[in-house]
Order: sequence, then C-alpha cells, then structure tokens
Amino acid sequence: MAASINEKLSDSFYMKLQPYIRSNEQVDEHSNRFDSRKNAERAENTAEERKCERCCTKYRVQMDSNGVPKPLDAKNLCKFHSGKPFYSHGHGDTIYSCCEASVYEPFYSLDGEEEDYCTTHNYHVSEFSGFFNKESEIVSTASSSGSNKAVYALDCEMCVTVNGYECCRVTVVDERNIVVYESSVKPEDFIIDYVTQFSGITKETLEDGPCKSLKEVQDDLLELFKKDTILMGHSINNDLKSLKLRHDMLVDTVIVFPHRNFSKRNSLRWLAEKNLGRIIQKGKAGHDSAEDARTCIDLMRKEVGLDYNFFINTDKQFKSKL
Ligand SMILES: [Zn+2]
Ligand SMILES: [Zn+2]
Repeated sequence: MAASINEKLSDSFYMKLQPYIRSNEQVDEHSNRFDSRKNAERAENTAEERKCERCCTKYRVQMDSNGVPKPLDAKNLCKFHSGKPFYSHGHGDTIYSCCEASVYEPFYSLDGEEEDYCTTHNYHVSEFSGFFNKESEIVSTASSSGSNKAVYALDCEMCVTVNGYECCRVTVVDERNIVVYESSVKPEDFIIDYVTQFSGITKETLEDGPCKSLKEVQDDLLELFKKDTILMGHSINNDLKSLKLRHDMLVDTVIVFPHRNFSKRNSLRWLAEKNLGRIIQKGKAGHDSAEDARTCIDLMRKEVGLDYNFFINTDKQFKSKL
C-alpha cells in the first residue's frame, strides 16, 4: 500500500519538478548575469535623478503642483525604438522589430539628419529600485497547516510608471493549465506608458474595468500560494518583483532551457516553437498572460515526461474564483 502511494507521488508533476527548483535568491542571481549593467545603472537612480532606459538621457523627475510628473516639452521628447533588435535572415542584418531599421547602419531623415529612433514619447522611462525594494510592502508566502503540494505558473503584464515596470495584470494557471486566478492591477504610481502593444492593457482596462490594488492582489495570492507551492514562470523574478512577492520554490524556464550562447536568454516564444511546435504571442494586441503561463507549464510537463497540451485550444477556463 505504502509503496503504491509513494509511486504515485513520485510520478506527480510536483515530485518530478524537484530537481529544477531554485530559491528566490538563486533566480535573482541567475538573472543578474544578464542584467548586471542595467541593474547597476538602476541602482544609481534616485527618486529625483534618473537615466532614461530608452534614450540614455540623464534627467530629473519633476512633479507639478498636483504631484503628477511633468511631461517633456515637444522639442525634447524621448526618442527610441520601441521594439527589440533581432537578427533577420530575410534582411541579412540585425534590425529593430518595431521599424525594421538596421541596428548598425545609420538612419537619416528627409532633411539629412541622423535619426536613430522611430518612436517618441513625452516621458523618459527609468526604474527607481527603492520603490520595488520597500521592505514594508514585500510579502512572503507562509507555511500552511496541511500539505499544499501544488504547482502554478504565473505571468504578469507590465506597464511603465514613473518608478519603472509595474504589474498591471496577473494570471495564474494550475498544473493542468486552467486559469485559477486573474486580475487587473492598478499601479500606485502615475502611469507614463501603457505599452499596449506588449501588455494589451489600455487606460480603459485600468480605469473602467474591474481592477484591484497590488495589496489586494497580494492578499489573494497569499491565499493561493503557500511555502511548499511550486511557482513557475519565464524570468519569474521579474513577475515576483512587480508583485512584491517573495517565494523560495521557483522553476524558471529561462534557467531550465539555457541559450547556447551563455550571455543570452531564450525567449518563451522561441522555446514554445522549438519544444512544443506551438506559435505563441502572435496577436497584435499584446501578450496573453494565460498563454505565456500555460506555455511554461507545458514546457516543464514535456521536460519531465508527462502529457502536455491541456486546453490549448480553448478559451480561458476558470476553475475557481478567489
Ligand atoms: Zn524602431
Ligand atoms: Zn528617454
């Protein structure tokens, strides 16, 4: 009898994931290998003095009398490429995904001026780590009385506030890919860019739709996640940071599936195509956080030799609502 119970447990997803589990600190440390320069620059930012992550300009955060950050004037906008550079076989060159301009070739405007941007914005973007590291706002998962050997994947969509990339939507799926929690989140800080093309979030989503504060979402998640829950994600440290949530049983698909070039990370989109034969993130209206979370579950289910592809062709299915 005991043997068959043990056999069943060792077969479960939870048990099979044990070798892949990392602590919060280990995941942060791994991520810092890729982002050490960005993190060092961010560490130098203060509440007032910042360096823009998009155009590298040094600037001061200035508030108007209502405490709202002042936009840049039309002559001094932030100029940048909104997409990411990638190597295009079609072009035989490294180009920006936003406008297909070459990353290395100079680009000239009609009046002959060098123009290395395709997008302008009326705010610079930077992160003030003091905002995310405020100890009093960071919550940790707690022990539960019984055993809670559950596995969840989570994914957050971010928008840009005056203090950096803050969570504006969180989705959690269980090990069978059912959405068990989803909420829009209203950042505390003034939003300077909804980055709708990536987040799928608009002003209306947060102002008109049902929306919770980060504190309310933290309370919900602490009901769902206990100390022995396995949480999974792709670069999950970014999601946890934006949720101001600390947890020590993490599976990060960036760590499980390393890029053959040590200095790069595999994108979730690429892993989905290569390992699952699935095209994700193809919609124009931004990422689908449930789709991203499900992809993590399926990548790991396949990795440990379990069935996968649960519910990929169905709409979001809610098992329970918190
Ligand atoms: Zn561009
Ligand atoms: Zn800028």
